Amino acid sequence: SFKALVIDDVDGKQVAGFRDLTVADLPDYDVLVEISYSTLNYKDGLAVCGKGIARRRPMVGGVDLAGTVLESASPDFKAGDKVLVNGFGLSETEWGGYSQKQKLKSEWLVKLPEAFSMHDAMAIGTAGYTSMLCVLALEKAGVKPEDGDILVTGAAGGVGSFAVALLAKLGYRVVASTGREETHAYLKKIGAAEVISREECLGSGRPFDKERWAGAIDSVGSKTLAAVLAQMKYGGAVAAVGLAGGNDLPTTVLPFILRGVSLLGVDSVMAPMDKRVEAWTRLATDLDTSLFADMITTEPMSNVIDLGAQILKGQIQGRVVIDVNA
Ligand code: NAP
Repeated sequence: SFKALVIDDVDGKQVAGFRDLTVADLPDYDVLVEISYSTLNYKDGLAVCGKGIARRRPMVGGVDLAGTVLESASPDFKAGDKVLVNGFGLSETEWGGYSQKQKLKSEWLVKLPEAFSMHDAMAIGTAGYTSMLCVLALEKAGVKPEDGDILVTGAAGGVGSFAVALLAKLGYRVVASTGREETHAYLKKIGAAEVISREECLGSGRPFDKERWAGAIDSVGSKTLAAVLAQMKYGGAVAAVGLAGGNDLPTTVLPFILRGVSLLGVDSVMAPMDKRVEAWTRLATDLDTSLFADMITTEPMSNVIDLGAQILKGQIQGRVVIDVNA
């Protein structure tokens, strides 16, 4: 048997706890993977705290995983292949990575890029891969380093940290917005040219504000995203990726119709395989993994419920890799 973090119904509530499972308990999918690492995303925090992410119970948590193929009925993978999975409903409708073994659909698997160890892959995880999807979206919208400053909101979080590091490496001037003063030195170290407070990021609060940003990556949503839209330069683009500050969007059409601003939606969970491979290929060239020393901590799976509560309170800096065998 092996250990897994299972979310189940107890007295009408979703409760997470550790269980011993066997391979016979796993879903009937074509690839069996021995997992080395998973990671902690905001959504994992919601799942392990019973906040409605697990749409089917019992559910094994963990949105991401990296591991080694043990058995494969698919011609695309063989025993010994190193693979990773991001999203595809893991921890929502499909059993995920907070387990020492998992059975998965071969269509969900990405071969681990040679540039990365399995620990690196989970240091990046959904947060880093999604940040790269945001960068690709801004590039596709034509945002270039010479166009001006790029804003990253929720900058000290997982998606935000990777957005700062990636954009800086690509030559953009990055302004990082954070609510945590104690993260300023960290944000500068990973590439921010300037750090501003959440209050400053909100600007005047008017629906049409002074032009400031050529591009933006927003993981906060709500009035933050509304303020970012209001401060976009003519023709600028915003990648909307998160809702850490709320899922509403109290805005007007003015930035769109008077400044030609674009709002680019970014989804990582059901992103098609070609996009995933493009993002992971670009991560292999555009990410400075020496920054991991400052960005990444590693924790045993036994701590994942406490860590989940911390990420929901906005207390996690950078990224946490989860060692499922510790
Ligand atoms: P995270 O590490 O918790 O980062 C979120 C950051 O947002 C926090 O560190 C904090 O940054 C800021 N924040 C938190 N609460 C806030 C509030 N009430 N008002 C303003 N700012 C607040 O989480 P993550 O894993 O990076 O995920 C970030 C967001 O992106 C989440 O909403 C997540 O669901 C979403 N996401 C979406 C996708 C997708 O496919 N679209 C993929 C991954 C994540 P500071 O302390 O620096 O201010």
